[in-house]
Amino acid sequence: MFRSLHMKLVLIMLLLITSLMTIVGAFLMTSITGFYIDQFYEQMDSVFGTSNASFYQALRSEAAQEDGAERIRNMVEANAGALGIDSRTRNYYILDGSTGAFLTGSDEEGGAALVQTANLMAARNGEVGDNSDITASYMDLAIPIHGGDNFFIIYIYDNREVVSNLNSQLFMIIIQALLVGLLISVLLSFLLSKTMIIPIEKLTEGAERVAAGDFSSTIAVESSDEIGILTTTFNDMAAVLEETLAAVENERNKLDTLFLHMTDGVVAFAADGSIVHCNPAASEMLESNVEHMDYDSIFGALYPLSELCALQRPNFKEAELHLHGKYLEIYFAPFDQESGSGVMAVLHDVTAQRKNEEMRKEFVANVSHELRTPLTNVRSYAETIRDTEDLPREVANGFLDIIIGETDRMTHIVQDLLTLSRLDSGRAEFKMTRFPFADAIESVCRAVELDAQRHRHTLLRSYDSSELPMIVGDRGRLEQVMMNVIGNAIKYTPDGGEIRISAGTSCDKVWMEVSDNGIGIPRGDWNRIFDRFYRVDKARSRESGGTGLGLSIAKEIILRHGGTISAVEHQGPGTTIRIVLPIRQASEVEENHE
Ligand code: ADP
Repeated sequence: MFRSLHMKLVLIMLLLITSLMTIVGAFLMTSITGFYIDQFYEQMDSVFGTSNASFYQALRSEAAQEDGAERIRNMVEANAGALGIDSRTRNYYILDGSTGAFLTGSDEEGGAALVQTANLMAARNGEVGDNSDITASYMDLAIPIHGGDNFFIIYIYDNREVVSNLNSQLFMIIIQALLVGLLISVLLSFLLSKTMIIPIEKLTEGAERVAAGDFSSTIAVESSDEIGILTTTFNDMAAVLEETLAAVENERNKLDTLFLHMTDGVVAFAADGSIVHCNPAASEMLESNVEHMDYDSIFGALYPLSELCALQRPNFKEAELHLHGKYLEIYFAPFDQESGSGVMAVLHDVTAQRKNEEMRKEFVANVSHELRTPLTNVRSYAETIRDTEDLPREVANGFLDIIIGETDRMTHIVQDLLTLSRLDSGRAEFKMTRFPFADAIESVCRAVELDAQRHRHTLLRSYDSSELPMIVGDRGRLEQVMMNVIGNAIKYTPDGGEIRISAGTSCDKVWMEVSDNGIGIPRGDWNRIFDRFYRVDKARSRESGGTGLGLSIAKEIILRHGGTISAVEHQGPGTTIRIVLPIRQASEVEENHE
């Protein structure tokens, strides 16, 4: 029940009431005592004061008499009313001035036990003793009376019983008032708690809900005072906070999606080198469990982290890393320099770019090399014909045949290069038609039959034409591919060899295999024979008029048909090249082609 603020309010009220009552009580009691003392001396003054000088003279002359003490007593007794003598709280005493001994008075008993007060001492020294201390428990007046040889002291003593009783009664009243005040303060604090603390508690609950991320309920505004204004302001603030948080969340989601799906890698490092963030692309590029790594173990060799943290925006550092066979371009930039700083690394995989560059360089070198050899031959034979005067006609004709052969070769290379370039750039047009697969094989076999016979090869056809389906494709180009593959089998098989052409279907695909028992291709070169200008045996290929481009052209054509071409396992010596093509509808191919 007694919450902190409530308790404080009660305590403040209690302290306020108590201190107020104490001050008022003390003031009242002091004032009453002061008033009583003043009244005492006013009464004394009305009898013994200068305004009543004749009374004082009369006292002196009475004192000079033999029974001076008795005479003085009579005179004082006559003024007892004016002096307020009541024989109970206030008495008078006639004392011997020189010894201080009690002679007579209104209180015989008290007179014998009189205390030597300061005023009494003063009177014994011949002066009027009329000083009174407010803190003392009495008040008194001592007047010296000289008459002839006699010396008396009139001493009036008041034990302040009246004022003490009055003060005690006042004290009781104050205590009662204090109790009532305290009771009222407790009641008031309850009232205050209802009007002030309950709304504050509601506000606190609302703030706790908002802190926990619940913006759904607003706090009811029950008054238009400061607390009401505070509640309205709090509701407005919560609404703005909700909107801002939603906007921030939205931005964060966008960034998360961007980081998640971007092809560039992003790794953020804290100033101590630990990884703060790493997107999937970066993990893939670094090919390691980056969670257990830090800056030094990944990029430590490139730049010290402190140097990167000290960079001023928009400066950044660039580096290249060759990691796990990949070429990575890395850009380092500092972030969040106000609060502790860190470094962001953006990783760009340039492996394909580098490989393309290498391939381009290699390609240019290959083209130059391929063209230089026949050109050198052409030039040297032409020079020989020109410089040899009596060259026999047959020899010159032989040289001219070589020159023609070399130019044919060059034309062949240039044509192949043009075909490849058209295929690469997508400029080569494919005339897609629907035709029987078996017919295409048959026409290629017929075309190479003569060549095969020349080399005494046996051309075996092991397929059933009736089982082969219709396919959709550019018949001319597909026949060019088959021709190239069968041509290679003829070329790379020693005379008298056996070339087997088989074909069939599997699922929604049609396949054709050309096997020979020739020189074969080492396993490690199976993929490379489809590279441009790649030849397993350069001399032999060149001898047989090969350009090293046939299979790369074949691969491009087959790929454009959605098929595959590859060297496959072969029983015994020789090679088997397998072509697989999808069996598709003409409409499908049109769509894909577009
Ligand atoms: P080429 O014009 O030199 O024949 P290709 O691209 O057609 O060029 O073939 C590439 C290389 O593959 C050839 O140089 C040859 O070394 C090898 N090759 C292709 N087919 C065969 C085969 N049936 N037997 C042996 N080697 C082959």
